[in-house]
Amino acid sequence: MTALEITPIPLLSDNYAWLIRDVDQDVTVVVDPSEAAPVVAYLRQRHLRLDAVLNTHHHPDHTGGNLGLKEAFGCHIIGAEADRHRIVGLDRGLVEGDTYRVGRFTAKVIAIPGHTLGHIAFVFTEPAAVFCGDTLFSLGCGRLFEGSPEQMWTSLSRLAALPPATLVCCGHEYTAANAAFALTVDPDNQALQQRAKAVAELRAGPVPQPTVPSSVGLELATNPFLRPLAGEVLRHLKLPSSSSATVAFAALRQLKDRF
Ligand code: ZN
Ligand code: FE
Repeated sequence: MTALEITPIPLLSDNYAWLIRDVDQDVTVVVDPSEAAPVVAYLRQRHLRLDAVLNTHHHPDHTGGNLGLKEAFGCHIIGAEADRHRIVGLDRGLVEGDTYRVGRFTAKVIAIPGHTLGHIAFVFTEPAAVFCGDTLFSLGCGRLFEGSPEQMWTSLSRLAALPPATLVCCGHEYTAANAAFALTVDPDNQALQQRAKAVAELRAGPVPQPTVPSSVGLELATNPFLRPLAGEVLRHLKLPSSSSATVAFAALRQLKDRF
């Protein structure tokens, strides 16, 4: 079976929509389009038609292109049933445990509340890739706009438990800014230092390159929000070693909000 194509499409100033395509079966979907026109242009240039839009959550910078793409391609809009009232153009609502097929490839839907309450992720196992919107970022995580630290920590833990080779396809190019913060709380982490250097190189030059997808394994080693109980991080937070992961995560998230 030939590979599933997974390609980030940069939109607005720092958003990514993700193209997912079963090349052999000519099935194409796009995750989280902020805007329609650049996606339409991209697809037309490649002579592709669009079968569906998948939304991870309701924010306008992830759904702004829904109606334009529906108009251009007659595609379906897929997203969380819980957000039916606020995902524009939603045709099919999904809940935890549902599956969604892109040609021969099947994604499992998991609920990952925290950034928003209705946030979902699409988890492919073969090949391993997760489309996680604004929940897990490369070297960071989303802000808690609607959910509690407990909810977000549970959601991040579910993503962290995916196989290490799983590609992390997130909604924004925030890696360089996240690296700057991560280095302040985990300065002696060599894997993080290396990653920060690699990220700086990718973003330097006239045409900055995407730093994503990342992988679950890389995030586990370098992302402070997945390792809030690591010694150095806890010391930086001035928390006792007996602290719970949720407490440490909440403190870390608050620190980042003020960074
Ligand atoms: Zn968002
Ligand atoms: Fe966003």
